Amino acid sequence: MAQLILLPGKERSSLKLRHPWLFAGAVGRLQGRARAGDTVEVLADNLRPLGRAAYSPRSQIRARFWTFDIAESVDDAFFKRRIAAAVARRHSLPELRGQQGLRLIHAESDGLPGVIADQYGDCVVVQLTSAGADKWRGAIVSGLVKATGCRRIHERSDSDVRRLEGLAPVTGWLHGAAPDSPLTIEENGIRLTVDIAGGHKTGFYLDQRDNRALLGRLAAGREVLNCFCYTGGFSLQALAGGAASVLSVDSSGPALAQAQASLALNPQLPGERAEWLEADVFLALRDFRKQGRLFDLIVLDPPKFAPSAAHAERAARAYKDINVLGFRLLRPGGLLMTYSCSGGIGPELFQKIVAGAALDADRDARIVRRLAGSADHPVALNFPEGEYLKGLLVQVE
Ligand code: SAH
Repeated sequence: MAQLILLPGKERSSLKLRHPWLFAGAVGRLQGRARAGDTVEVLADNLRPLGRAAYSPRSQIRARFWTFDIAESVDDAFFKRRIAAAVARRHSLPELRGQQGLRLIHAESDGLPGVIADQYGDCVVVQLTSAGADKWRGAIVSGLVKATGCRRIHERSDSDVRRLEGLAPVTGWLHGAAPDSPLTIEENGIRLTVDIAGGHKTGFYLDQRDNRALLGRLAAGREVLNCFCYTGGFSLQALAGGAASVLSVDSSGPALAQAQASLALNPQLPGERAEWLEADVFLALRDFRKQGRLFDLIVLDPPKFAPSAAHAERAARAYKDINVLGFRLLRPGGLLMTYSCSGGIGPELFQKIVAGAALDADRDARIVRRLAGSADHPVALNFPEGEYLKGLLVQVE
């Protein structure tokens, strides 16, 4: 095994903080030969061993720790153990037990950097985003089959971040074959279709499960505007919660078509109260303002405007822009449920942006709840970067 030796004093974050990332700037030299994804032994400058990591020569994150236990081998049995532990963690939480749509592995926060696995019924969709994860595909698949007994595993390793690792996109079936009919899951009592082959991420945004349920509890009698609705998860929950009307906006025609297909799977819902609009949210909100339209409850769940801290400034302007517009479209007493899923925008900065937006819109407002991802998206305490989804529920005067 090759050895990655750190520069003097650079072992602190590995040794004391147990942070799973090792940046290029901390690395002194590589002793021996290692290719992308190979396991290397990481040593401090004084040659004290720190753990074992996956080597990523192309990435600024030069290595990701698999283990800080220098006696632990990284082999098939390692993945079997880590995957079984991640799955058992979900089953230990009553709120997650029996969920048909469930994140089984949340990468670094489950001790498996670069590995995402989402379960939809009998199918698991994996996304491998780092060179190390890519290398261990076989062991990961066997570990998942063993831990879940699932019949199918589909790979959706087509996220942009793979490019930073020098990895090409990979998609396809790793275990079992495509089901005959579209996949559906039940979430909070609503049936939803999931497009695991063509949808975003692994097909669905499982991280918003609890927040969609919350929206359902807030929706009764309200006129709801759901911006960036994707396949209608929030919209259908609002209908189930007794919303007076739900207007859903997204720029993706296929996502809107899928939302309507999901609505049709729920004949108990008052579909006539739903309106779907294919439009750019930035423009649509300005149009509503011109038309003098107002709402009682607005959801803003935009895509990641800031994939990394480097994009934070431009992203902050975009977040502020839609939040100003959102505040202006609320009736007195109305609620704004607003999110950022950008890793580069922390919770404090997000709150500042939303506060600035309220000032610009000249609305007096207060936070009534802070929102985050569901329990199957845990954030390891040694990996604060895992807290990418943050939201605020804000009420205006
Ligand atoms: N709230 C959704 C997830 C939203 S994902 C859920 O709970 O499932 C973000 C969505 O924003 C995607 O569907 C994407 O098509 C859409 N989108 C991105 N940019 C947009 C824009 N400028 N205007 C409208 N929709 C946009």
